Amino acid sequence: MSYQIAIDGPAGAGKSTIARAVAERLRYIYVDTGAMYRAMGLYMEDHGIDLSDREAVEQAASGVNISIEYENGAQQVILNGENVTGRVRTERAGMLASAVSVHPGVRKKLVQLQQELGSRQNVVMDGRDIGTAVLPGAQLKIFLTASVAVRAGRRFLELQEKGQKADLVEIEKDIEQRDYQDSHREASPLTRARDAVLLDSSELTVQEVIDEILKLCAERELL
Ligand code: C5P
Repeated sequence: MSYQIAIDGPAGAGKSTIARAVAERLRYIYVDTGAMYRAMGLYMEDHGIDLSDREAVEQAASGVNISIEYENGAQQVILNGENVTGRVRTERAGMLASAVSVHPGVRKKLVQLQQELGSRQNVVMDGRDIGTAVLPGAQLKIFLTASVAVRAGRRFLELQEKGQKADLVEIEKDIEQRDYQDSHREASPLTRARDAVLLDSSELTVQEVIDEILKLCAERELL
């Protein structure tokens, strides 16, 4: 049997940083499900497919092959044989992912892939629907959130550090729009699973959040 830790929450709450660190500490595999939706969004844009056309998106998605590989422990996203790991981490790819993820056919395909990954090995998986739809039986579920202002501020710093152009007001607007889209879609909206532990990271450091999660892991004998 594999052990599963699900971390869900809105954009910019720190899920990937936290999930990666917890996975490293526990020697579990980290699965970033957002990267798969981002790859799917990029594919649609590359092929000129109208993201609001459900039929066209679902038909195209059925022929898309997304797989996950690991290089020195780091997740690599492979889209139809091409490594797109570098391309998925832009604000643009995030918006495309949010638009493409509303379509049930896309979700069904990616959820299946995520469930396969979660059944083969011990995983820390982050996303929007992990505790509710992908791994409903996960031993530990976390709903990680933070205020919009804090999340936008963190994204801003992250982009600045990478030397990318960043506009705080734009980022805040994007985050609000993504929050709205992600929590108002019909298929698996962003909601906290009933048995998820709510963690608000607005006033906490990264290390404090990691420590809190490791404490919960210890209580559940996942260490
Ligand atoms: O987490 P990340 O910002 O990479 O996710 C990008 C977008 O992909 C989210 O805004 C959301 O719309 C979608 N997503 C999803 N379900 C997941 C992970 C991501 O719908 N499990």
